[in-house]
Parts: sequence; structure tokens; C-alpha cells
Amino acid sequence: MHKVIIIGSGCAGLTAAIYAARADLKPLVLDGYEPGGQLALTTLVENFPGFPDGILGPELIENTRKQAQRFGAQFHSGAVSSVDLSKRPFKVTVGSDTFESETLIVAAGASARMLGIESEKLLLGYGVSTCATCDGFFFRGKDILVVGGGDTAMEEATFLTKFASKVSIVHRREEFRASKIMIDRAKANPKIEFLTPYEIAEVHDVTKQSVEKVTLRNTTTGEKIDRDVSGVFVAIGHDPNTKIFKGQLEMDSNGYLITHDGPRTNVEGVFAAGDVQDHRYRQAITAAGSGCAAALEVEKFLAEHES
Ligand code: NDP
Repeated sequence: MHKVIIIGSGCAGLTAAIYAARADLKPLVLDGYEPGGQLALTTLVENFPGFPDGILGPELIENTRKQAQRFGAQFHSGAVSSVDLSKRPFKVTVGSDTFESETLIVAAGASARMLGIESEKLLLGYGVSTCATCDGFFFRGKDILVVGGGDTAMEEATFLTKFASKVSIVHRREEFRASKIMIDRAKANPKIEFLTPYEIAEVHDVTKQSVEKVTLRNTTTGEKIDRDVSGVFVAIGHDPNTKIFKGQLEMDSNGYLITHDGPRTNVEGVFAAGDVQDHRYRQAITAAGSGCAAALEVEKFLAEHES
């Protein structure tokens, strides 16, 4: 029987683990299928306070993990296949193991949707990015491309014009999902061009480990064109990792967990932190902050429910 189980080992889960471990709650962290979360997939992080020269995402995660271990957090690898939150203690199953816990912190994160092209995967962190706030700064004076036709694509393209000399929005249809005001704003920006209806066929150059060019395919005619760019921002949405909580935890229409009064979910004793409940900020520091809040609430909850 555990006092607290933390589902997820990204910034939110690991910060919760540090706080819970220091409160002597001996947290068990279930790693998930993307250990380290989205930070493990990035290169340089320049906006996490305390690192004036920046820090590599995987290094930041590894340090945070070691910090949690130092205070007694335990880790178990593997993805959670099911949970039973109908009564306390809660049951959490990973493969053939079932764990029981008095409280739960869900920090399972969200995964950026990707296009599914091999070169995109290989160049992620080397010119291909899923976060304009994180990586825009590296493209000062460069030509870049943003993929997507929703509000995120419009917002990120507009934000990126602060740095880039030119931003091309590539969208697979002529119609946009984004709201009119966001499209109008992007269209009024002289640094933004629209390329429709196109999809990315290939990102070059994997052998040089940097983005130099993309090949676009017209989705109607099949015609291919090349564009010289230094960066590709994939802005086609995120999927919160909440499938296993369906029917047990309240979520919005996009699958994000709904929290109230800080990190509380609709089930007493279950708390949520990080991107799994936040589609607005999605930053390492905000995830860490909410992980800290969740651990503090767990501590309070356990003190109040001590038998
Ligand atoms: P959306 O799901 O709204 O849009 C995703 C876009 O990506 C769509 O245009 C979609 O194309 C395209 N897309 C999806 N998969 C692929 C693919 N495999 N290849 C090419 N293109 C693809 O996600 P967003 O992240 O933009 O927005 C999520 C939510 O957050 C929305 O409700 C949005 O309104 C909100 N939001 C609000 C903001 C604001 O108000 N400031 C800012 C950012 C987000 P297609 O249309 O053809 O399906």
C-alpha cells in the first residue's frame, strides 16, 4: 500500500515526487511510455529559471529525477494500462503488476501530434519543434515553416514573426479550423505567407542533422515544391494522455482533465498536474509548479484522512 502514486515522469510528475519524497510520503512514480515526458524530446531549454546558459531538456529531466530519488522516490517503468478509482485505496495496473495507493497524482502529460514522417522524427530538436515559445528564439533572422490550420498554428506563426524573417503556414486544406480573428491577424502580418493546400512530404537534411529544406506536396494536384527553411514548427494539436481515466475522471471535450481549487479532480484523493490538465500554458515551469501544488495537497489530504 502506497501513500501516493504519481503517474508520469515529466516535469510535473518529478516535481511532485521531490515534494512528496521530502514530506516522507515515499512516492512511487510510474514512468509512463514516454519517460521524462516532452522535455526528454527537446534539446536546449533556455526559459527554465535558474539556468542562465540554458540546459538540455534530457539533462534537466535527469537532474530532477535524481533529485527525487535522493529523497526516496521510487520508480517503476512501464505504462499504466488501467486504474480503478471507484474507492480508496485506488488501484493502478502496470502490465501484470497492480499497485494500491491512498492518493494519486495524475501527471501523464500530453503528447504533441506529429505528422508521422520519419525525417520529422529524426530532426525533432534539430530544427523540427513542437513548441514555438520554447524554440522560437533560435530562429532569429531565419525562414521557417509552421504546419497546421488551427488556432495554435495561427498563434505560433504570429509569435514566431518576432524572430523569424519569414513564416510560411502550411495547411492541408483551403479552409481553416482557426477562429476568424486569429486568421485575420496572421493574414495582416507581412512576414506571414500561407501555403495551401499543402502537406509536408519530406524534411531535409537528416544526414546533416539540421533542417535546410522541406518538400511540400499539393494535396489536390499532387504537385511537389521545395522551400528552403531552417525550422519546421509542427502545430497540429496535442493529445492529453487520459484514455485510461475515461468514465472515472471528469475531462473536457478535448480529453484534458478538469481540475478545481488547484489540482483537485472530481475524485477525492486524486489530483492532476501538468499538461494532462493544462492546454493553455504547457510550459516546463508551469508543469513543475502544478506538480508541487499537487504534492502539497496530497500531504494535506493524507493528514486530514489519517486513520
Ligand atoms: P486543432 O485540433 O484545432 O487544429 C489542428 C490543425 O492541425 C487542424 O487545422 C488540422 O487540419 C491540422 N492537422 C491535424 N493533423 C494533421 C496532420 N496529420 N497533418 C496535417 N495537418 C494536420 O488544434 P489546435 O492546437 O490548433 O487547437 C486546440 C484547441 O485549443 C482549439 O480548441 C483551439 O481553439 C484552442 N486554442 C486557442 C487559442 C486561443 O484562443 N488563443 C490558441 C491556441 C489554441 P484539419 O483542419 O484539416 O483537420
